[in-house]
Amino acid sequence: MAERVYCPNCGHSNSPHRVTCKECGQNLKDLLIQSTAVTHELELSAQEASAILDREVAKYVERGFRVISRTDATAQLVKPKSFSMLWFFILMFTLIGWGFYVVYYLAKKDETIYLQVLPNRKIRRI
Ligand SMILES: [Zn+2]
Repeated sequence: MAERVYCPNCGHSNSPHRVTCKECGQNLKDLLIQSTAVTHELELSAQEASAILDREVAKYVERGFRVISRTDATAQLVKPKSFSMLWFFILMFTLIGWGFYVVYYLAKKDETIYLQVLPNRKIRRI
């Protein structure tokens, strides 16, 4: 069985699944999350935080990020933009392809045909 949740506003003992106090309507869920977060912050030493962050930072450094600034609990990283030769060639050849089609279209002539009905009822195309 989970413990009962005591309202910080009026002291009413609420069943653990309640989101708000049954007596005064005080939000119980937010307070619980807040107090849990504060507890974790207090339990985490700077050394431990730094070690956790080191592991996370290493992942990003592998992906090309550089560390700009660093404290025990925070890190600022930046990934410099890079020129992609692959995309450059894909898009360049796409443009060249369109260019060829435009030239082909402009060079094309209208197609003219002549049709003639022959005395034997057949059609002749000239
Ligand atoms: Zn209450």
